[in-house]
Amino acid sequence: MNFKKLLPFSFLALSGFYTSGQTLNTKIDQKAQALESKIVTWRRDFHQNPELGNREFKTAEKIAAHLKQLGFEVQTGVAHTGVVGLLKGGKPGPVVALRADMDGLPVTERVDLPFKSSVTTEYNGQNTGVMHACGHDTHVAILMGVAEVLASVKADLKGTVKFIFQPAEEGAPEGEEGGAKLMVKEGVLENPKVDAIFGLHINSQTEVNTIAYKPGATMAAVDFFSIDVKGKQTHGAYPWSGVDPIVTSSQIVTGLQTIVSRNLDITKAPAVVTIGAIHGGIRQNIIPEEVKMIGTIRTFDEEMHTHVHKRVKEISTNIAESAGATANVKIDVLYPVTFNDIPLTEKMIGTLQNVAGKENVILTSAKTGAEDFSYFQQKVPGFFFFLGGMPKGKNPLEAAPHHTPDFYIDESGLVLGVRSLSRLAVDYMEQSAGATKAKK
Ligand SMILES: [Zn+2]
Ligand SMILES: [Zn+2]
Repeated sequence: MNFKKLLPFSFLALSGFYTSGQTLNTKIDQKAQALESKIVTWRRDFHQNPELGNREFKTAEKIAAHLKQLGFEVQTGVAHTGVVGLLKGGKPGPVVALRADMDGLPVTERVDLPFKSSVTTEYNGQNTGVMHACGHDTHVAILMGVAEVLASVKADLKGTVKFIFQPAEEGAPEGEEGGAKLMVKEGVLENPKVDAIFGLHINSQTEVNTIAYKPGATMAAVDFFSIDVKGKQTHGAYPWSGVDPIVTSSQIVTGLQTIVSRNLDITKAPAVVTIGAIHGGIRQNIIPEEVKMIGTIRTFDEEMHTHVHKRVKEISTNIAESAGATANVKIDVLYPVTFNDIPLTEKMIGTLQNVAGKENVILTSAKTGAEDFSYFQQKVPGFFFFLGGMPKGKNPLEAAPHHTPDFYIDESGLVLGVRSLSRLAVDYMEQSAGATKAKK
């Protein structure tokens, strides 16, 4: 390749793009700013009326009405309650998908806000409040804002934007399918075929107007497991006449701690094995027949993922066997690793730096939480980042974490979310158009 020959052309192309890009960017930023109070109003409405996974009926209705009013092609009832809107730009180009999740959680809100949720429901046989305790209300409001922003520059768009409002990110109710996995299964990434997907998550423990991201493995793969240890019931005063599943389970819990500390190369990637519940017995002088344990596994690497599964089974069954008990291990593979496509991340990070200011875009470490955005990323290159939602100057250690009754989001960070997603979509389309031109 003759670099010297190419230089003037690419320089011209770049400067041309820069000028038109500049005006389009200005239009987008101004429109996003002008929409701020509308976005906050939407967010408060969703916050006050949260709905659990696969039950986001009213949320979906409001989204669909907004998208229809903007003139989008709208599909409802995707993966139960999902809404998909299509905005066709004035010029040909790629298809970019933007995703927001819509579900709330069975958490009773404790924050004293005028738009506090007072919704209650029965969940797993218990009465509970319902709350947007993960901030998905902000995601919906942000993406509705993006829809309005991009609709206002429709004629300038070099491609199509697919807006994906997804149900049940936190998991579908027992016995139901749902979330990103079901949306993918129902063909959300086809017709028209999506070329790249972007998404964000608000974060209650990072400051407003900052963005955090990581190329590659960003959030963990998650699995649930259960171990049923069966012994032989006996009188608590005569343990030798039975097989004690409580002592055996205690040894198994301790044994499982050696997987991360002794079986994995932790310099390669982190991993977590947690037992979250252990149930057995009814009375002080009865050694029960059975103990049931449940837990979660978090990994970032496929080989380590397989190895942890193997070791959980080996350790549990062999310890049980040595005690004369049996251990029945069941592992359910849940969400895969949220993996930010490296070339796409590298290509788009400049956009986020332009939008937020270079000093406000922070390279972060991997998170052991999980996201079903990963199912989209398994099919198409995707980039998922974290948007600051903590009031400026607050100590992150004092900010309530996600999924807790005191979870709080500073709404002044929402406009940055709208500008980020809008400009990621636009820059991706501009760059793809530029790349096609360069290829010719
Ligand atoms: Zn969550
Ligand atoms: Zn979430």
